[in-house]
Order: sequence, then C-alpha cells, then structure tokens
Amino acid sequence: ASVVNKIAAGEIIIAPVNALKEMMENSIDAGSTNIDILIKDGGLKILQITDNGSGIDKKDLPILCERFTTSKLSAYEDLNSLKTYGFRGEALASISHIARVTVTTKTKDDPCAWKVSYADGKMIGEPKPTAGKDGTAILVEDLFFNVQSRLRALRSPSDEYAKVLDCVGRYAIHSKNVGFSCKKFGDSQYSLNVGVDSTTQERIRTVFGGNVASNILEFNTHKLEEYGLEAAIGQVSNLNFNNKKHIPPIFFINNRLVTCDPLRRSLNQIYSLYLPKGNKSFIYLGLMIRPDLVDVNVHPTKREVRFLHETEITEYISTKLQDTLSDIDT
Ligand code: ADP
Ligand code: MG
Repeated sequence: ASVVNKIAAGEIIIAPVNALKEMMENSIDAGSTNIDILIKDGGLKILQITDNGSGIDKKDLPILCERFTTSKLSAYEDLNSLKTYGFRGEALASISHIARVTVTTKTKDDPCAWKVSYADGKMIGEPKPTAGKDGTAILVEDLFFNVQSRLRALRSPSDEYAKVLDCVGRYAIHSKNVGFSCKKFGDSQYSLNVGVDSTTQERIRTVFGGNVASNILEFNTHKLEEYGLEAAIGQVSNLNFNNKKHIPPIFFINNRLVTCDPLRRSLNQIYSLYLPKGNKSFIYLGLMIRPDLVDVNVHPTKREVRFLHETEITEYISTKLQDTLSDIDT
C-alpha cells in the first residue's frame, strides 16, 4: 500500500472494532435481516461478517474497494448529511489497504455467487463463480499486517474481542428486525445470539443479562418531520456484566452509533441524584433526525455529534428519567 493510503486508512481503522462497525453498517444499509460475525484473535487474524442483504452486483465488484466509490449518494445528498456519514466510500477502501479482503456475494437475480479478493484498493484477478446464498460475506484477514506500529499499540486479542462484542451488542439492541450472532473462531457456542424477531427488551436482556432488562422503561416521542426518538432507560443493581463497572449510554443517531457528551452528562447528573447507591444506569436512545439538523464533529473513530433540538430532546429524556427514578425511590 502507498504510505499515504496506509496512513489515511490507519486513521479511520485503529482497531478491529472500527472495521467491524463499518461493515455492520454496510450490511444494515443493504437491508439485511441477519448478520453473523466470526472472529479470530480479536479480529486481527480473522474478521468475517456474513449478511443476507441485497448482495453486490457483479459489475460493481471491480471498484468495490476504490476510494470514494459508494452506491449511497442519493439518500444523503446535502452537505450536512455528507458530513454525518463523513467517509463516503472510504471504509472498504481503507480496510483493503491494511488487510487482505475477500468478498463473496450474490444478488437475488444472479444464479450464482461471486468470490473475489482485494488488496490496496484494487481487485485481484477476476471474480470467480461459486456457490452461495443471497447476501454478502466479507472476510478480512491479517488486519494491520503492514502497520506494525498499530499492531503494537493494540491491546490483547481478548480485549479487542470484548470491544467487538460490545459493538455488536449495541447494534443488536438498536437494529430491530435484524438478527445478530457473534462468535470466536473454533467456538461451538455463540458469544451473542439475538433472534430477528426479538423485542427491544429481549435484545437488552440477551446482550446485558436479565439483571439489566428487568428494570427497563421504554418510551418514545417525535416532532413531525424533524425527529423521532425511541428510548429505553433503567437502573441496574449488582451489575455483573463482563466485569464492567457501568454500561456507557447507547446512543444512535440515524442508525449510526455515536456519542454526545452534553446529553450523557445531563443524564448522568440526574442518575447521580436519584439512583440508589451502588446501582448503575442503563440508557439506550435511538434518534432519527432530519439529516440537515445533525452535525458531526468529523473524527471518524469518535463520532461525537451535535444536533438541533438537543436541549429539547435532552430535557424530554431528563424529565422521563427523573419521573422513573423518583418513582422507584419512594
Ligand atoms: P459507503 O458505505 O460509504 O458507501 P463503503 O466503503 O463502506 O462505503 O462501501 C462501499 C460500497 O460497497 C457501498 O456503497 C455498497 O454499495 C457496497 N457494499 C459494501 N458492503 C456491502 C454489503 N454488505 N452488502 C451490499 N453492498 C455492500
Ligand atoms: Mg459504509
């Protein structure tokens, strides 16, 4: 890979979880109702994602991993939404500069699947016909094989796996009508398995355990044509989830996992006033908002967002939260 391309890729993909997040979003964008993930060595050796979405047309395969090639422009035409999804057509390109990528894909109109590999943004040879179901499987091998500094900076494979699993869990909670599974290579058991028909509560229970899901309150609100909010909040006693001390808030904006510090801070403030000692917060928010009302501080790995109606939405959730928590208190 050229040095420039490698550096650019290394800024977008700093750990296996970043690559996985991009690929899960692609699978969801492709209308998948099932996403299976297989991981070896924390995603450094193998990171594989198999979906049952639209598949990729054979004619699009030659440029699949070229930078700035995307099939998604129409939906996101204005500048702000371009910022929101700041890296149009860069994810697969980036990954192909720092890993070996093999794609197997089949559209419903194609009688067979096509398999092809990529390196440094380019297709290697020609796609080969193969057996396969409708959908796309992307196999990423030897991530960072050519970026030794990045490899050295990473934590252990088990830490990287924990990050992957956490990210899959968050998408599984948010993405209704999509089933998810995640497992380690060689394991017969899934680390996570969420059925396509699961409700939000069931998804939360599967991901975080019954202890979390037993106290959840769901609610939603919307402002016509501007935003729609779905939320689930609760408190957790005796949190014993992968030795975690707390569950960071899960916040999706327009189906992308993001962070929003002001919102997180005000909710934490309320929790700290009302939550019985030792109990922890659980917050899931899914916000759909008109793309031009969202602004993203464009660092791709942080995804910190600002949005219009932030105060209004924060206040709404805060009030709900306060009501719930003070009810529990008395
Ligand atoms: P972007 O998602 O911004 O368009 P990506 O580099 O993530 O850019 O993906 C490039 C293109 O590859 C997408 O626009 C899409 O057409 C295609 N693609 C990637 N993954 C999948 C998938 N799982 N199913 C169908 N198409 C996909
Ligand atoms: Mg993408």
